Amino acid sequence: MTANVLFAGRPDAWPAYEPLLKTELSRLAVDADLRNEFPPEDVDYIVYAPSGPVSDFTAFTRLKAVLSLWAGVEKIVPVVPAGMPLTRMVDAGLERGMTEWVVGHTLRYHLGMDTHILRQNGRWEPKAPPLAKDRNVTVMGLGALGTASALALAALGFQVSGWSRTQKEIAGVTCHSGADGLKAALAHAEIVILLLPDTPATENTLNADTLALLPAGAKIINPGRGPLIDDDALLTALDNGQIGHATLDVFRVEPLPPEHPYWAHPNVTVTPHIASETRESTAAEVIAENIRRGEAGEPLLHLVDRSLGY
Ligand code: NDP
Repeated sequence: MTANVLFAGRPDAWPAYEPLLKTELSRLAVDADLRNEFPPEDVDYIVYAPSGPVSDFTAFTRLKAVLSLWAGVEKIVPVVPAGMPLTRMVDAGLERGMTEWVVGHTLRYHLGMDTHILRQNGRWEPKAPPLAKDRNVTVMGLGALGTASALALAALGFQVSGWSRTQKEIAGVTCHSGADGLKAALAHAEIVILLLPDTPATENTLNADTLALLPAGAKIINPGRGPLIDDDALLTALDNGQIGHATLDVFRVEPLPPEHPYWAHPNVTVTPHIASETRESTAAEVIAENIRRGEAGEPLLHLVDRSLGY
């Protein structure tokens, strides 16, 4: 039987996704009818983003799965009915973009680029930066994006540690896990990268207590989600020098309100949630493969664990 697939991502993304998804579905020999409009009671799969037209799922009475175009699902988990299979986006293009952004900002801190290159201040201080092998970097969150970033940093020679909920084994990365491993993950981290999901368990992972575990002057890079950081605690730590600088891509409120102290803080770099994004061509492959699996009765890839929220 034909599977009816509703594209309910951002409306302006439909022209790019339509041909790519159709090509992939046909390549995988999936009998599917893909459209950006359907009577809800006819829809089998929704390709979904919160920025699209669907916010209420009650009329979708024969729905088999919701396939998210976003990697972070904290806004999606509460609106998709309990029990409905929900997948999140794990996309090679998204992963590549995040890895490049993380490596770029890590190297910027490591090499002191803001001090030595971007703001030539007339002072002649001929002190070369250390080599990566003498720099400790910690990646918080070792999922699709954290692991790819940690591996790229390890390949450059950094001393990389990582932290996740469950214990990992990643070549070249010293892995810590759970509440017990948090102190060890932070104790020597000169640069901390946050790639955790936004869940009740990860809120304020960086707070006054955990920021105090870091070596004085540590740098923070947050492309994960705003609520991972207690903003007041970070501002205090930036003001007293415990944290040397922070590069923040994500915030509790986006766009970051003009009056927010981060904008004007001399030791904060604000970027407007651009660390990475889902890339249509690689994302279409993942979505089509999950529709194939759904129709074949095979387990879907990248299912969200609703009890954990990611
Ligand atoms: P994954 O779900 O693959 O990985 C999440 C990681 O966080 C896992 O290693 C998981 O541990 C760990 N984790 C979750 N909860 C806890 C906890 N309570 N304590 C310790 N570790 C925990 O996600 P991705 O790597 O694909 O993405 C990470 C986040 O990046 C997304 O949720 C999203 O918020 C953000 N993002 C930001 C973008 C941007 O442009 N700024 C773009 C895309 C994503 P375990 O492996 O043990 O389960």
